[in-house]
Amino acid sequence: MPTKVAVIGAGAAGICVLRHALASEGVFEATAFEKSNKLGGTWVYTDKTETDENGLSIHSSMYKNLRTNIPKEVMNFPGFPFKTDLPSFLSHENVAEYLEDYVDHYGLRDHIQFETVVDSVRPSPESVGSGKVKWEVTYHKVGQPSSAQTNVYDGIFVCSGHYSDPLMPKMKGLENFEGKILHSHNYRSPEEFRDLRVVILGAAASGQDICVDMSPEAKRIYLSHNKTPLSTAIPDNVEQVDGIVEVYKDSVRLSNGQEIECDAILFCTGYLYNFNFLEPECGVKIEESRIVPLYKHLVHTTYPTMFFIGMCKTICPFPQFDAQIQFSLKVLDGRLVLPSKLEMDEETETDYKTRLERGLPHRHAHLMGPRQWEYNSQLTTMAGLEPISPNVQLLYEHVHAIRVKQLTTYKRLNFRLTGPDTFEQY
Ligand code: FAD
Repeated sequence: MPTKVAVIGAGAAGICVLRHALASEGVFEATAFEKSNKLGGTWVYTDKTETDENGLSIHSSMYKNLRTNIPKEVMNFPGFPFKTDLPSFLSHENVAEYLEDYVDHYGLRDHIQFETVVDSVRPSPESVGSGKVKWEVTYHKVGQPSSAQTNVYDGIFVCSGHYSDPLMPKMKGLENFEGKILHSHNYRSPEEFRDLRVVILGAAASGQDICVDMSPEAKRIYLSHNKTPLSTAIPDNVEQVDGIVEVYKDSVRLSNGQEIECDAILFCTGYLYNFNFLEPECGVKIEESRIVPLYKHLVHTTYPTMFFIGMCKTICPFPQFDAQIQFSLKVLDGRLVLPSKLEMDEETETDYKTRLERGLPHRHAHLMGPRQWEYNSQLTTMAGLEPISPNVQLLYEHVHAIRVKQLTTYKRLNFRLTGPDTFEQY
């Protein structure tokens, strides 16, 4: 009997699960449930904000002019490159088309149930305590609540993404602001900010990228953050300022006491993890943006037949997803034996405490950045997988080093891989 796998979401992570599960020639049987009518998740751009035509909240945080911040030469899934005639930094259309091509190439389309919302997941009561917990998954067709049905699966892959639920920090006086207030989740195009004085709060990847995108249209942009000032070249009408402490009807006060008049505030303050389809019996908690109990940010340590793909932040996503998925499938079919629950929890706790000791805030429990290479190699080594090509780290870090100096221009560069650990820039 094949091992039955349910996949929640048909974004990049979900389709990659299908690819590897179906390559197993009968070991696995896999179905992905996708609430929208398209695959690709984040990469499916829409002008709409808030809700779609079916009343579902808009999933994607993609904006019209976005260019990828990882070059296509290393952003791809291993073994499936982007088309060579594309520039290194891609549009969202390029990536959406790539994911469609991936699905067709590996024959995955018939295994995706579109317009199907997963409402709830719970451990099947009779399997609890057996060591191999099964999962009851209840889902319904969009617009047809009476179509709800429940099936039982041997394994579950949570691939629902984590860039859809805005994190809005509490801010004194925000309710008094009479201008435009937006989170980056709902940012679509710079024209909406034409001739406005905009405070962008947060200078991580989204804050920086949107600042560059918006600068030709906005009158003035104040990039507000509490970090060391960015040392990169920024557009002439952008000024870096301190964090906001209070908001008034048409201005904000900064932590250094300065008051700035503005017409709009754009929150680039990140996102929350949200797995509202997981019932409490699943035993998954989100503690200060930390998903517990997860071994290697991936495997549920109480019920190691549940896997969370793509939860890490600041990574090169597709290659890491691919490694996480192959690792998980090996756990699920018994080819990879995990340490005991106690050992897994201890290792997870040590990782978390080390982060805190090094000064990272709680919310960075799944942050990777430079840690991602060691993490990836732990996964591939433990699971006996081919290591991720050295070029992924080399080119990712090379681009990062250029970005911190040339934020406004680095996406004009192109790259060509010339060997497993060599590339050319042109
Ligand atoms: P998603 O793409 O979010 O897909 C999740 C899917 O699950 C969606 O299709 C959703 O509809 C579905 N779903 C959710 N809940 C349910 C449910 N209950 N029932 C059924 N279906 C459900 N990565 C890069 O590699 N390069 C970049 O340049 C880059 N730029 C980015 C820019 C922005 C603005 C953002 C937000 C992200 C960017 N990323 C980038 C990261 C990107 O999120 C990942 O590359 C990747 O697309 C995430 O895939 P995913 O499958 O994990 O999640």
